[in-house]
Amino acid sequence: MDTKAFKRSLNQSDRYHRKGFGHEVEVAETLNSEYQSNLIQTIRNNNYVLQKGAVTIKLAESFGFCWGVERAVAMAYETRQHFPTETIWITNEIIHNPSVNQRLQEMNVGFIEVIDGKKDFSVVNIGDVVILPAFGASVAEMQLLNDRGCTIVDTTCPWVSKVWNSVEKHKKKDYTSIIHGKYNHEETIATSSFANKYLIVLNMAQAQYVSNYMLNGGDKAEFLDKFHNAYSQGFNPDIDLERIGVANQTTMLKSETEAIGKLFEKTLLKKYGPVEFDNHFMSFNTICDATQERQDAMLNLVEEDLSLMIVIGGFNSSNTTHLQEIAIEKGFKSYHIDSVERLLSKNAIEHKPLIKGIQIDENWLPEGPITVGVTSGASTPDKVVEDIIQKIFELKES
Ligand code: SF4
Repeated sequence: MDTKAFKRSLNQSDRYHRKGFGHEVEVAETLNSEYQSNLIQTIRNNNYVLQKGAVTIKLAESFGFCWGVERAVAMAYETRQHFPTETIWITNEIIHNPSVNQRLQEMNVGFIEVIDGKKDFSVVNIGDVVILPAFGASVAEMQLLNDRGCTIVDTTCPWVSKVWNSVEKHKKKDYTSIIHGKYNHEETIATSSFANKYLIVLNMAQAQYVSNYMLNGGDKAEFLDKFHNAYSQGFNPDIDLERIGVANQTTMLKSETEAIGKLFEKTLLKKYGPVEFDNHFMSFNTICDATQERQDAMLNLVEEDLSLMIVIGGFNSSNTTHLQEIAIEKGFKSYHIDSVERLLSKNAIEHKPLIKGIQIDENWLPEGPITVGVTSGASTPDKVVEDIIQKIFELKES
């Protein structure tokens, strides 16, 4: 399909909106009152440190709501205001934060249900308004909603659109897009829908496997089995890895994305030599600034002398999980939680370790004076961070 032509025609439609509706000021006031925090602003002004009783809180110097998330949430609020009586749907969580999604539900914005692994669009009718989330939607979804006569409010972050543009450039030259991402993450599903041929690699280990296959060949059946669900229909590793372009999910670990890009660059240089190299490899920097800043701030924070780390964000939030990875890699006792309710008591915390389900740990809060490092993912409102910090103070004093 000519995805470029489809997007162009969508852009020209009166039923497609990529900007707000002129209610910015009222919406900004509402968002401030619902999601901002005076306490967090005070800590920011105090060089990211706050001490109370036996607890010192050290905040990462970059954390929480990013520009793209703020924009998407504001557009969703504006949509409700602009279409007060219409039925409004959102194709997914607007962002990966339970409190924000719940607030939208209270505003009577419906979420498309997933039944047996598929989104059930049968509830969407002609004339309904449908919001696309910050991490975008697949071409097939956009097409379906457009064909059904819906009004589409597209909050896709421009950083994500930038990745789609890269994939379009790969496609134009008939290159295969190798996408560093999670094959079942909404953003990567959307990104891959713009590619003709693609392969999704999760991490360096998978990238090395692919690199080795490019240089030395291997067992094709094993390859296809290993990347099951992570390649385009008809993908053939013996043919489709000769010319590649690298792209990424915007919220992956920056250092890993860079290393994977370099690995493929070296691989193709080795395979085809410097003269032919340019006809086999394309790469554009599409790591999002906000992800980069939050990871850099986390790398600084874990250099401090901390008793423990609290990483706050939705459990399905990719960028939050990578912040947690940095803490774990550094050897910290680090708890990934999504709300204050996870701090069950002074002795018990409910949290999600990496690659495991939610569990309860005991004796998480050390005795005596402690320093707690705190950060939050790009979809976490400051208000959630404030509630958690206040609760830590309270539990320590009790
Ligand atoms: S994390 Fe980056 S890509 Fe994602 S919404 Fe925020 S600014 Fe956009």
